[in-house]
Amino acid sequence: MTETVTVRVPAKVNVQLAVGGARPDGFHDLANVFLAVGLYDEVTVTPADELRVTCAGPDAAQVPLDRTNLAARAALELARRYGVDPAVHLHIAKDIPVAGGMAGGSADGAGALLACDTLWGTNAPREELLDICAELGSDVPFSLVGGAALGTGRGELLRPLEVGGTFHWVFAMAERGLSTPAVFREFDRMNEGVRVPEPVASQDLLDALAKGDADALARTVSNDLQPAALSLFPALADTLAAGRAAGALAALVSGSGPTTAFLAPDAESARTVGRALTASGTCRAVRVTESPAPGATVLG
Ligand code: ATP
Repeated sequence: MTETVTVRVPAKVNVQLAVGGARPDGFHDLANVFLAVGLYDEVTVTPADELRVTCAGPDAAQVPLDRTNLAARAALELARRYGVDPAVHLHIAKDIPVAGGMAGGSADGAGALLACDTLWGTNAPREELLDICAELGSDVPFSLVGGAALGTGRGELLRPLEVGGTFHWVFAMAERGLSTPAVFREFDRMNEGVRVPEPVASQDLLDALAKGDADALARTVSNDLQPAALSLFPALADTLAAGRAAGALAALVSGSGPTTAFLAPDAESARTVGRALTASGTCRAVRVTESPAPGATVLG
């Protein structure tokens, strides 16, 4: 029997995040273009006496270790559906910033699900894994599939997208996190009395992705949550300005923030933007990476 399984899962950036008005159930319809980026968490699962979660990494202190952790919830749901005893130790090696708008918790949920499915030999069909992911949260299905995808509904209905080349990114981590629900509340407050249009994916943006054209992608990226994130965290404007001044083709808030994302024309320019952001003193840490990245992958 397999004794331990490790799964690597990528973070994401939303190159488009179009947000509709609040629905009666409080959720928002989205047109969400996800791109997986080369910044990863690793989830390792090992048989244990009872379900237990540990976490290591710079943001580990902010990660809940009880059954609210998305990794634990994923394991419990798979165990429930297949009648398996969920007695495992889930260890998260965390490199994705917590509450950073990069779907770190979602990555751990998808990672734990695939790791447990492999360890227990449950071999759940892909459709069932995706169904569990959607139950755990809007961004979790994308963490499982990776690459690039258009998410509609709450973001959980996914259509894979073609990406015709490598895009170079720099991510600036902020000094503190932002709560996704708080950013949506601020979005609602700022749009009170406004008729918010139906969210639609930009065809120009999808074409730019398909061609691997960074200039065209830079012209078309958009994030409807950015004004709300900036309203709650005004200092992010300084980080965005520092990246633009250093030559980024586009600078935007990643998802609900507060991580900021910078698209660069090539790897060398990405390193230049990264160094300038570090020197600017407007962020806690900087990471230079590429996209697209593969979805949840069993290692070894
Ligand atoms: P998204 O981009 O999907 O909106 P995020 O990246 O902004 O999410 P997360 O890092 O996923 O935010 O964390 C949001 C909250 O979820 C955390 O503050 C934490 O309380 C909770 N959480 C639950 N499980 C995890 C996990 N495995 N890792 C990190 N946070 C988790």
